[in-house]
Amino acid sequence: MKPSTLRIGYRYRPSRLAPGYDAIVIGSGMGGLTTAALLSELGWKVCVLEQHYTAGGYTHSYERNGYEWDVGVHYIGDVGTQTQTKRMFDFLSDGRLQWAPMDAEYDRFYIGDKVFNAKAGKQAFRDNLLRQFPNEQQAIDDYMKLLAGSGSALSAFGMGRAMKPWQQSLAQPFLNWKTPDVFFRKTYDVLSELTDDKDLIAVLCGQWGDMGLPPKSSTFMVHAMIARHYLYGGYYPVGGAWKIADSIIPRIQNAGGEVFTYARVKQILVEDGRVCGVEMKDGHRIDCDCVISAAGIDNTFNHLLANDVVEASGYKPKLAEVQPSFAHLGVYVGLTETAEQLGLPKTNFWIYPSNDYDSAVNAFLENPDAPFPVVYISFPSAKDPDYLNRHPGTSTIEIVAPAPYEWFVKWRDETWGKRGEDYDMFKAELGERLMQHLYDKVPQIRGKVDYFEVSSPLSTDWFGGYHHGELYGLAHTPERMQQKWLRPQSKIPGLWLTGQDILTCGVTGAMMAGMLTTMSMVGTRKMAPLMKRIYSPG
Ligand SMILES: Cc1cc2nc3c(=O)[nH]c(=O)nc-3n(C[C@H](O)[C@H](O)[C@H](O)COP(=O)(O)OP(=O)(O)OC[C@H]3O[C@@H](n4cnc5c(N)ncnc54)[C@H](O)[C@@H]3O)c2cc1C
Repeated sequence: MKPSTLRIGYRYRPSRLAPGYDAIVIGSGMGGLTTAALLSELGWKVCVLEQHYTAGGYTHSYERNGYEWDVGVHYIGDVGTQTQTKRMFDFLSDGRLQWAPMDAEYDRFYIGDKVFNAKAGKQAFRDNLLRQFPNEQQAIDDYMKLLAGSGSALSAFGMGRAMKPWQQSLAQPFLNWKTPDVFFRKTYDVLSELTDDKDLIAVLCGQWGDMGLPPKSSTFMVHAMIARHYLYGGYYPVGGAWKIADSIIPRIQNAGGEVFTYARVKQILVEDGRVCGVEMKDGHRIDCDCVISAAGIDNTFNHLLANDVVEASGYKPKLAEVQPSFAHLGVYVGLTETAEQLGLPKTNFWIYPSNDYDSAVNAFLENPDAPFPVVYISFPSAKDPDYLNRHPGTSTIEIVAPAPYEWFVKWRDETWGKRGEDYDMFKAELGERLMQHLYDKVPQIRGKVDYFEVSSPLSTDWFGGYHHGELYGLAHTPERMQQKWLRPQSKIPGLWLTGQDILTCGVTGAMMAGMLTTMSMVGTRKMAPLMKRIYSPG
């Protein structure tokens, strides 16, 4: 397969723009594409502008040396049956996106010298926990009740964000009534009221990397959302993560819209207090009175809007209430035998030095030589039933681990691929340490590794436009989750927001944000028939 196959979207040139777009979307991640596709379905002509060489944001994949890797999709939950999540993916992709189930034990947690598994299915998950912690039945059942009870609260939370501020004020008593007391508390505080067993708490929080904050810093709401999301197991997009964007873009094009790549927006233009278009990096101006920023809060308010506009609209003090999430390292490994030959599992590995996740994070932040507080290993080619059709005789592995952006800041202004020997050496050392974890857990791959490369937080900045190398946009602290200004409708007329910062991280979180943004923009009366087609087709 030629490398260009994975490069989706149409290369931007001013001459390729059509006249009279109804809306401009900045960023082609899941949030931007969902909003663009739903608006297209409602008859809007939408222009999506993506700064990267390919569309998809964190759902893009890339190829090198005959291998293919994903950068921000390892597993998606809730798509094994006709759930709301699955129906939305089906609609956006017109049924083109297929899902392959992972192993029943979809997540494996190596905690110190102990090993635990998460098992797919509510009952199986609970029974498996009980098998591993036979004295903790009460705590496990109480935990399952907390998860069950958080479902309608999570929906209410989302709906609240889609309302106009005055509507939300009116609905607030109802929303408060729907919100359990534990919702905005720290995850660890909630779980330590259920049990004293530190290993059980560690297993329940074994997916903390999926939201980027350990249990003493994260909010229980996001913990519950992720636990519920994967409760029925993990799934992988057949054909690779890039298939997600590839299957959605035709919806936008069929309505006369387009997704342009190499299309970096320099500024969101505001005149007389309202949005009037965007200025591109090449200086070209695209006029439009409706701009949707799917490029994240930091980009939107600290880079794309003029300082005086942010000041005048009252966002400055609000921005101080949120922080970027952790940055990360990625290791992308290519092997000369297939996943089957090497016995690679369809299970994600989470490797922790001990059951005290927060202390491990703090120790690492203070001293880079301390053990990685979490090492995540994923086996994408094992999960993808189509992989061998594209890359016969090979397999791939991906490793993710946290690493502060500050460690890399001195090379920030250098060009990708030319940051110098000291940068390459620093990255290589970190990469070698992560490879040792891989060899330790999957020793049979020794001698079969043909290629590996390491990405740093600067890669996230360079390719994804996250200027602090953020893994998940804004950090999911209790404070962040209570910021009501993180909503689709901005205070600047004509400017709308979407993507992971509006709701939560995750491909599904960004997709649901896209749905809420569309609903906010067009109103429930116009959205209702579309929702009916999505959720009750036929
Ligand atoms: C290592 C890693 C692993 C992950 N694993 C999973 C997983 O297994 N399952 C899961 O559900 N989620 C996972 N996630 C999270 C998930 O990928 C994201 O939360 C989600 O895709 C974010 O979507 P988004 O649309 O909000 O943002 P993004 O996908 O980041 O899209 C934003 C887009 O805006 C573009 N942009 C920025 N500035 C500009 C500009 N000035 N002009 C034009 N374009 C611009 C960027 O290039 C980018 O394409 C993972 C993330 C990472 C980093």
